[in-house]
Amino acid sequence: MNAEPVKDLSRLCLHTITTKPWNIEEAARNYSKAGVKGITVWRDTLEGRDIIKTGGLLRESGLHVVSLCRGGFFANTEKAKRDLAITDNRRAVEEAFKLGTDKIVLVCGADPRQSLEDSRKQIYDGICEVLPDAKAAGVKLAVEPLHPMFADTRSAVNTIKQANDLVEAIDSEYVGVAVDVYHLWWDPDLEEEIYRCGKNRNLLAFHICDWKSPTVDMLNDRGLMGEGCINLRKIRSWVEKAGFNGFIEVEIFSNLWWKQDQNEFLERIVRAYKEHA
Ligand code: ZN
Repeated sequence: MNAEPVKDLSRLCLHTITTKPWNIEEAARNYSKAGVKGITVWRDTLEGRDIIKTGGLLRESGLHVVSLCRGGFFANTEKAKRDLAITDNRRAVEEAFKLGTDKIVLVCGADPRQSLEDSRKQIYDGICEVLPDAKAAGVKLAVEPLHPMFADTRSAVNTIKQANDLVEAIDSEYVGVAVDVYHLWWDPDLEEEIYRCGKNRNLLAFHICDWKSPTVDMLNDRGLMGEGCINLRKIRSWVEKAGFNGFIEVEIFSNLWWKQDQNEFLERIVRAYKEHA
């Protein structure tokens, strides 16, 4: 059975990348005006900003800072590059702490010069290395499995089962899973693995958009909810049955939508959220 329609906007969160043409101050002002309650901040929007002040500005705008996007990219054949990734993830933890959010989304990385198994081993090691920093800062790390079309360079963690296996092997309350419908909607094990994730209290985030048919760009042709073939209500019903009642995060990378008037796009997002999420 599908979930009931959302009643109001109290769980609506937007990723800043969704309205990429806006800087963080514009996003804060316009999200708040539209009744959006949460924001996931992409790190590029913080460049040149005082992060503590920016966190304050977001809260003053009535926005809960849901997470920082993103850390990860642990896998690399070169040790020096893996070390750089650790340094960058430690920096991300510090940024999350300053911003006042308790969560970082991890795109774990992959390197086509080595096997996916080797990449996954490096991901495990990388997360374990950053974990003490995350704990000390009170920041949780959310492993986001990515669609297998990104298995060459972006992530060797491609199914929610692999993400569950990974976070259960690490076994820390500071490491969990981010469920993104764009990456996972096709998986025949999705329902069962969402329940497994929830049962172990590992379900940390829920990202939504739609899968357009045809999709003309793997990365930047995500659809607005209702534009594609994902049964969002059904997946949300599983996520909620698994015990998740946090923010529903709209994350749309779209060359088409970024070209439109962003205020009109935001209105469309709010409407689509009520109709399809
Ligand atoms: Zn996502």
